[in-house]
Amino acid sequence: MKSTKILLLSILLLVSFTLAAQHKSQLSDPKMKSFIDGLMKKMTLDEKIGQLNLPAGGDFTTGASSSSDVGKKISEGKVGGVLNILSIPKIREAQRLAVEESRMKIPLIFGLDVIHGYKTIFPIPLALSCTWDMELIEKSARIAAQEASADGLNWTFSPMVDIARDPRWGRVAEGAGEDPWLGSQVAAAMVKGYQGDDLSKNNTIMACVKHFALYGAGESGRDYNTVDMSKVRMYNEYLPPYQAAFNAGAGSAMSSFNEIDGIPATGNKWLMTDLLRKQWGFGGFVVTDYTAINEMIEHGVGKDLKEVSALALNAGIDMDMVGEGFLLHTKELVKEGKVSLKTIDDACRRILEAKYKLGLFDDPYRYINDERAKNEILTPENRKAARTIAENSIVLLKNENQLLPLDPSKTIAFIGPLANNQRELIGSWCAAGDLTQAVSVLSGVKALLGSSAKIKYAMGCNLLTDKAFQSRISGADYVDSRTDDQMITEAYHTASNADIIVAVLGEPAELSGEAASRSEIGLPGRQQELLKTLLKTGKPVVLILMSGRPLTLEFEAANVPAILQTWHGGTEAGNAVANVLFGKYNPSGKLTMTYPVNVGQIPIYYNHKNTGRPFDASKNEKYKSRYLDVQNEPLFPFGFGLSYTSFSYTDLKLDKQKMTSNSTLTVSVKLTNTGKYDGTEVAQLYIRDMVGSITRPVKELKGFQKVFLKAGESKILTFTLNDDDLAFYNSELKLKAEPGEFKVFVGTNSASGLEAGFELTK
Ligand code: BGC
Repeated sequence: MKSTKILLLSILLLVSFTLAAQHKSQLSDPKMKSFIDGLMKKMTLDEKIGQLNLPAGGDFTTGASSSSDVGKKISEGKVGGVLNILSIPKIREAQRLAVEESRMKIPLIFGLDVIHGYKTIFPIPLALSCTWDMELIEKSARIAAQEASADGLNWTFSPMVDIARDPRWGRVAEGAGEDPWLGSQVAAAMVKGYQGDDLSKNNTIMACVKHFALYGAGESGRDYNTVDMSKVRMYNEYLPPYQAAFNAGAGSAMSSFNEIDGIPATGNKWLMTDLLRKQWGFGGFVVTDYTAINEMIEHGVGKDLKEVSALALNAGIDMDMVGEGFLLHTKELVKEGKVSLKTIDDACRRILEAKYKLGLFDDPYRYINDERAKNEILTPENRKAARTIAENSIVLLKNENQLLPLDPSKTIAFIGPLANNQRELIGSWCAAGDLTQAVSVLSGVKALLGSSAKIKYAMGCNLLTDKAFQSRISGADYVDSRTDDQMITEAYHTASNADIIVAVLGEPAELSGEAASRSEIGLPGRQQELLKTLLKTGKPVVLILMSGRPLTLEFEAANVPAILQTWHGGTEAGNAVANVLFGKYNPSGKLTMTYPVNVGQIPIYYNHKNTGRPFDASKNEKYKSRYLDVQNEPLFPFGFGLSYTSFSYTDLKLDKQKMTSNSTLTVSVKLTNTGKYDGTEVAQLYIRDMVGSITRPVKELKGFQKVFLKAGESKILTFTLNDDDLAFYNSELKLKAEPGEFKVFVGTNSASGLEAGFELTK
């Protein structure tokens, strides 16, 4: 009896897995299935393999395309898509080769890293997440898709949804910070923005969720480094944003460079097949990261390209970015029985399905439209959106004695290597971004204040001083030939003659993004020395920080009266900064990554575990989980951000003390704008599961509301919690909420808030 039950259960499970593994779209779109069945029947094995090949179009030139390698391969049906190809003439020619010269006439897809805007550049993704505004984030992706698709592209390698807790890693700039719950919302918003509600429209593009998976957890913040983590941590803390992006309908995914359980993601069958396809039912296609297959030789899991190509194919990878292992070795692998024909068919089908969904079989040129390219890129409306989004991403870290907003009638000295800079504002990863379109802080301020402005300027010092350091990045090539000493002296004199000093300091863009890890994350070069010199004038100093990551700011936070974290804010950064400086926009951004006091505290994140010996700062006990030389608390916690006005939280109420698993709990709080400016607050709700079958984080974000209140105005905010919000993956990796005591916190950031308790009963 028991064994029959088990058998039945196993069959049921098998059936549901197989169903999940089947392409969702196939089930829902029989027309697509029969079209692709028909197409594939006519394709040779070589042509199927060709679809799995994604070369870079960097060396692809219009006109000479037939003689170039990529062009020739396209005509021969050996290419499924091209990445890094920019401009309509090149894309049109590549598509022509595919649909006019290749035997099967299968159109190509064209992909690019459209990460935070195409030509209208938005703030870097980390900054975007600090808006806590899903509508704005979706809008940024929508505009990026509109512009990119107007210029011939139909696929973006975004969103990057890797959870990251180590600000030494340069790629924190590209993600949404440290929180899996917020990260999931951002992931879904980005996918919706890119893909819209119909991928076949000529102004939507396919998203590619990356880097699957766990790329943000590389050891010591060094890029491409080893990842090793428990499944419980993986499921609870790192995987949710990927899954959210897939649930939002993302059409493709990119494998990550790191290993997982000792097997590089690109060759990891558990990851690509068991988890992604069987458990999650993902029906899109998976492309590798740049030459990630080839790199498995260096990883040491295969002796040559043929062996690692087999590993990737058998793991469930569909498309090979740049490495050409699939192109060169698949046929042989099939002949030798090392890779099945079915594996190739499945991969090819998924890629063809993507092309079908993009509408390319109806019209391969649907994304290529000179008129649209002329009219829909860098429009005034797009720039306006970029400005609004940049304003919303700025985080006010400190504002002693209400130094900000500034009085425009004062004489203000703008000092620093980023004050009159355009290039760095557009940040890392903006492949098509045009730095000449970016508005510097100085221009933004001048445009806002007009001719009456009393503005002074001095560069103050170079961004970096160490020549060897500088030589490792390609960006900072506008180095002033004077010595830093000369520039600091000049800055001191300029600043001494002003009423207020605005220091615009930070990182050049190339110090974050890919291959841009730092071991020290303070202000680089001699910028802190410049700041100290400015403070010596005795004038009030406002620090405008531009960076791609949280910096260590112990000195700055202690000594500078006002600090605005403005990131790399994109094309409209200067206008946005000006609006915030002079109070046209009251800052509302909140941090999505914890700011450490020093690098020794890293990794540092708000949703940590309690440990068996938690340290209580009010008691000076030794044998506790603590440092002897630095506090445990960060400099600025997750969720932190001030406003020119102030907000109070009162009257936290729960509608019940006991909640059952099929009921909901309503949490309400009164939020009041107690200051003298109208302003926007991001009210945050966290929970703590007091006792679990596995240890639970001390806090977990489960809700937020971004609310505008006029000065003096109050509003009752209500949040609803249900069973899903309390659920977590237990040690058997089952997702469920466990009955018991919970705490709920509502407040202005992860480190402060009103507190109440409730019980989840069975
Ligand atoms: C990066 C990816 C990117 C790809 C294509 C790789 O080096 O890791 O994030 O999408 O290049 O440009």
